[in-house]
Amino acid sequence: MPPRIVILDNDQTTGDYDVFFKWLNWLEVSNIRNFINIAPILVKFICLFEREQIFRPGLKKFLRRVATLKQEGKIDYVVIYTNQTSEHNTVTDVSGLPITIPKLLEIIYNALSNSNLIDLTLTRPQTGELTKSFSRVFSALDIPLNKWKASKTLFFDDLLEHCPKTNDVTDAEKGHVRVKDYRTPFNSSLFMRMCRTTVSYAINKPRAFYSRQMMIDDMTVAAMSAEILDTENNDYRPKRPESFGYYMPFIEKTFNDYSHNNIIEV
Ligand SMILES: [Mg+2]
Repeated sequence: MPPRIVILDNDQTTGDYDVFFKWLNWLEVSNIRNFINIAPILVKFICLFEREQIFRPGLKKFLRRVATLKQEGKIDYVVIYTNQTSEHNTVTDVSGLPITIPKLLEIIYNALSNSNLIDLTLTRPQTGELTKSFSRVFSALDIPLNKWKASKTLFFDDLLEHCPKTNDVTDAEKGHVRVKDYRTPFNSSLFMRMCRTTVSYAINKPRAFYSRQMMIDDMTVAAMSAEILDTENNDYRPKRPESFGYYMPFIEKTFNDYSHNNIIEV
């Protein structure tokens, strides 16, 4: 039986993570990462991200459906495949957890789905190659190429040009679902809230230390927000495309009915 795989892009597919990246920058600027455990803070962020629609609406329901199908034995692997980099892999929190967006989103997807959902996370290779490759997924999962069928793989991505159009497998597009890009305006008040939440979790330092940090960081935050609003204001068009509920039928069709020939038009 060919392996049945769900592959998820991150940015503009499962959500719009600009604010998350800015928070990562802030962690480095403020040096506060040396005094915090990220894991309990992520739990707080999940609630905020759902409420402020950083996640594409319906993400939790979607991931839980995928998790159920996996538990029922109808899906074999769930993979994150992102062009986000993990170059800061050596940067960790106080517990030693690597602080990279792909790693943190992996933890968040597992928490959202209430299961051990993600089997593999692939990030941009060191070569900088943006076009994604099915063969990279299979080789990382130790699946021989000749065991693979496009009709049993769903690759959710907002960018066709980043998706496999390679010679490594034939019929690659049949396993590809192009989702409409999901974008939300940069939410500077959410960003401030994330920073303050982080400070409240810091350990082993007197409160005055963080107060001083926050004065500096408020300015950093304001500068970052202004920069973003300034650069994106002219061509920014907020989009509210389909929620993840729109894509649920692809999951159902592909993995519930094994004989279904999965050719998808989106
Ligand atoms: Mg994307």
